[in-house]
Amino acid sequence: MRISRKKQALLAEINQTLFSKYSTCPCPLNYETPFQLLVAVELSAQCTDIRVNLITHELFKKYPDIESLADASLEDVENLIRPGGLFRNKAKNIISAAQSLRDDPAGKVPQTMRELTQLAGIGRKSANVILGVAFNIPGFPVDTHVKRVLKRLGITNSDNPEKIEAEVNALIPDKYWTNLSHMLILHGRETCAARKPDCAKCIINNLCKYYKKG
Ligand code: SF4
Repeated sequence: MRISRKKQALLAEINQTLFSKYSTCPCPLNYETPFQLLVAVELSAQCTDIRVNLITHELFKKYPDIESLADASLEDVENLIRPGGLFRNKAKNIISAAQSLRDDPAGKVPQTMRELTQLAGIGRKSANVILGVAFNIPGFPVDTHVKRVLKRLGITNSDNPEKIEAEVNALIPDKYWTNLSHMLILHGRETCAARKPDCAKCIINNLCKYYKKG
């Protein structure tokens, strides 16, 4: 991949400016172990972080670890996670992931992209969150906010999350990846909304292609 020095400098400045506002972003999902984070990440698909935390508060009282969730009844888990939507698929996936981990000799959440993405319901985005948050292994999760903001800023033209991840990985040192993704998600939620971005109040509007174009 050809690396553009101009984009490198632009992303460095965006990262620095966002950091002046957001600093180090803590993970909004409540968890006590890497496995609980994995479950919370699976539950967060199309669900707010606040609702996920309400759900896991109850779910983890009954099923706090790999063993208990691997043996859980599908119906019971469906009922506990129902308010978060997509509950049938999510229940199937989190029980299946727990069973895979229980049956694996290591018996714990793996720390590689390849192994994580073999678990039910875990794609690259979720794996990057788990690696970055639970294990401090740099990753750049690309969700819909990250994609939209980076496109508007002119960092990428792509709609493909894997391509965007690779582009950002090439543009900025790995120590920034996880937090940059968190900051872009917050910025996308708070300021650079899909329908009506609040460009006048945006602290990176001087760096934004979309804004400069008017
Ligand atoms: S200037 Fe507008 S479009 Fe650009 S990042 Fe800020 S809010 Fe988004």
